[in-house]
Amino acid sequence: MRLKGKVAIITGAASGIGLETSKLFIKEGSIVAACDYNEEALQKAKSEIGDAYRIYKMDVSKHDEVKTIVDKIFSDLGRIDILVNNAGITRDNFLVRMPESDFDAVISINLKGIYNVTQAVVTYMMNQRNGVILNASSVVGIYGNIGQTNYAAAKAGLIGMTKTWAKEFARYSIRVNAVAPGFIKTPMTESVPEKVIEQMKTKTPLGKMGEAIDVANAYLFLASDEANYITGQVLGVDGGLVF
Ligand code: NAP
Repeated sequence: MRLKGKVAIITGAASGIGLETSKLFIKEGSIVAACDYNEEALQKAKSEIGDAYRIYKMDVSKHDEVKTIVDKIFSDLGRIDILVNNAGITRDNFLVRMPESDFDAVISINLKGIYNVTQAVVTYMMNQRNGVILNASSVVGIYGNIGQTNYAAAKAGLIGMTKTWAKEFARYSIRVNAVAPGFIKTPMTESVPEKVIEQMKTKTPLGKMGEAIDVANAYLFLASDEANYITGQVLGVDGGLVF
């Protein structure tokens, strides 16, 4: 078991990549504090996964609520070893048609949410003098994408935070890395038209969409002791879509 005895907080843990990562971390011996604002989906997942999947309703965009819940997780579970900042949304549109509210929503969840949760968690890791923080970026944050001004800004911004925190917290033995998935089959990409999916597959050297487990496996590696000397990196999980 690669995460035996660890406690991991995973945001957006009720669906897609977050759910798959929760299952994998639990299989590898971790307890998971599964945070999501979709309480019904959390309950459903818990009934399938069992007791190691501890559920906490959390909206990552709410600074004070996040702090209260992270404090409760620490008091319930006694330590926090791993944080996976996975919660995210899309509100796509061309810039000229993008309402301010959609720009703000994506920034407040996908970017500020990571600041909120990490700030609440990192003091516990600093006291432990150990920890791993993993952030969900995207190929879009590195290369841009038509119709995703808000999403690209957030996913690029969090790479800046990842590298800053890797430097800021290295002296506490806290490693900070990001993962940049390409096109992954999850509820987030369910509404993408078949024609676009086919185009993406053609553009991807490995010729297919990724599965949530492909990203979960990258998180597992980066969270495990096998990645002990890796920090400040952005790991692409994209079938070779961009390099
Ligand atoms: P997903 O299936 O939509 O799962 C995201 C989860 O986050 C959902 O349960 C969602 O709840 C939850 N969430 C949304 N806003 C939240 C908030 N404010 N507080 C707490 N939880 C919140 O998406 P996914 O495809 O697994 O994506 C996971 C992460 O990977 C995201 O950051 C995404 O940007 C990134 N990513 C995905 C892909 C891809 O192709 N799928 C590619 C690159 C990067 P609701 O369902 O209720 O909204």
